[in-house]
Amino acid sequence: MPEKLINMDISEIKDSNNARLLFLYLYYNNGNNLDIVSNKMLEIGNLEYIQYMLRVFKVKNIDIFIDFILKKSDSPRYLYNVLYDVDYLEDRNRIKLINRIIKLDNDRYTIKAFYYYFNILKKFNDNIFNKAKKLIDKKLNIDFNKDNYLKVLENLIYSEDYKIDYKGFTNNCFKGRNGYIPSLIVCHINSTYASALEHFYNEKTDVSAHYVIRRDGFIKQVVSLDDSSWANGTSLKENSDVYHRFSTIPLIRDTKDNANYFTFSIEHESFDGSLTDKQLESSIKVMKKIIRYLKDKYNYDFIIDRNHIIGHDEVNPIVRTKCPGKLFPYDRIIKELKKEIYDEHR
Ligand SMILES: [Zn+2]
Repeated sequence: MPEKLINMDISEIKDSNNARLLFLYLYYNNGNNLDIVSNKMLEIGNLEYIQYMLRVFKVKNIDIFIDFILKKSDSPRYLYNVLYDVDYLEDRNRIKLINRIIKLDNDRYTIKAFYYYFNILKKFNDNIFNKAKKLIDKKLNIDFNKDNYLKVLENLIYSEDYKIDYKGFTNNCFKGRNGYIPSLIVCHINSTYASALEHFYNEKTDVSAHYVIRRDGFIKQVVSLDDSSWANGTSLKENSDVYHRFSTIPLIRDTKDNANYFTFSIEHESFDGSLTDKQLESSIKVMKKIIRYLKDKYNYDFIIDRNHIIGHDEVNPIVRTKCPGKLFPYDRIIKELKKEIYDEHR
């Protein structure tokens, strides 16, 4: 946890209309006065910070928040993100969110919501199943049934993606490394390859990563290793959501600059951090390439450990709580990399 930088007393909390400040107060003070702050957050009604608060802190009146969100938001993306981000939701609230997403008639988020519910959470609900069947039978002319639904959803989520192609590198990056030798590899997840690339090649989004690795192991490079991708930026401002001292990684906490300058970022197509065997193999291959690049270009020996192969959630714990997710196989990657790199030097 970061230093105590924001102190407010109860009357200041009650007088505040600044959702961001209130969220940061909770964050800096380990959820102190959560009941009072969460009521105030409802009153202010800022959906973005309500989402941040709900995913980091377990509020008592979650039903009221979900009802509030359903009343205020018509964005399938936002509703899906609440469903995905808030781990402790009870099933009745998940069902409410999914039903609303279905009603909003956005195929991408509806399919994502089904996939997340059935395949990732491994839940089952007849009503949601029937709605999924109705939509998928009709739109895709597939007989969606209780024997094949997991497979059908998996195919729907991933197969379309693989047709997408973008040539060359994206312009979403800083040229060069601002004088640093990059020395950290940051691991990320993105639910689908298509959504990752769409964002990384769209110059309005200001996001990118060096690589994206698909479920089938296919590797797409998006940014040159000589340049700084925009995947896990940090700020020197104490009141920023991405303040560098929020990071749990010593080098990032102690460096007074944007972490994008001294990191490599690898995006993996995954919902929960679990990788397919082929994906794991490709991820290790990419990391070996980075390690060799560092040796060739800077005569620098990359340190293979958990302070240097890290997660996005360790760089930006406020804005990213589930990237790359609990199931991300750091230990296997580190073990394999050590084995391979040391073998090479034997
Ligand atoms: Zn990330």
